Amino acid sequence: MRKPVIAGNWKMYKLLGDAVSTAVSLKSLVANANHCEVIIAPVFTALKSVADRTEGSNIRVAAQNCAAEPNFGAHTGEVSAAMVKDAGCSDVILGHSERRQFYGDTDETVNKKTKAAIAVGLRAIVCVGEMLSEREAGSAENIVKSQLLNGLEGLTVADTERIIIAYEPVWAIGTGKTATPEQAQEMHAFIRKTLSEIHGESVASGIRILYGGSVKPDNVGALMEQPDIDGALVGGACLDAESFAKIVNYK
Ligand code: PEP
Repeated sequence: MRKPVIAGNWKMYKLLGDAVSTAVSLKSLVANANHCEVIIAPVFTALKSVADRTEGSNIRVAAQNCAAEPNFGAHTGEVSAAMVKDAGCSDVILGHSERRQFYGDTDETVNKKTKAAIAVGLRAIVCVGEMLSEREAGSAENIVKSQLLNGLEGLTVADTERIIIAYEPVWAIGTGKTATPEQAQEMHAFIRKTLSEIHGESVASGIRILYGGSVKPDNVGALMEQPDIDGALVGGACLDAESFAKIVNYK
């Protein structure tokens, strides 16, 4: 009932030529992947070209961020949700831990960005996840719960149709240390329980929850077997089209 989503976050990699050629290679490699949605998230400057070259394929294009401010205005260096949509994107990744750690994203700005994205018809892939020190202190669930409650504050039931959650334990991002399928499942079940406390069980049971953190072709299968893991947000292993296609084609 929940169609899996495999999303690749290209972070700040690839000049335009490389971005387009990776996307074009990926098209044929994932053309038969009807079991899941496929998303790639290039840098802003490559969004339009990648979206144009993947149009009509089963690849969706996402931005990695958007402005909290919904309107045109004097916001030097910002890119609005409407501009992301206008470039051909269907989705936007928000609240990635790298943005929270190094670029000032907070639950409050994630909430504003999420609302701005939904207002223009984008889907928001909202990232949550605890740091290693928080897990070791036994507060992982509290941290994730507060990121969810504050980040999704004020969303209506209709808005939740445009939300995908990505659970990305910060200690597993780019480190090669994947959460075990059981550890990830435990947190995904907790996230679904929290979503059901906000909007009820039937809404929560329809929301996709992706796992992110060192997902690779050889560990995606075991993660995807877990009942509350509905896909993956992939960093390092998505930059190469063949490697990402192996993850997409995990089935
Ligand atoms: C990410 O950046 O969202 C991520 C999960 O990275 P990696 O797969 O490299 O851990």
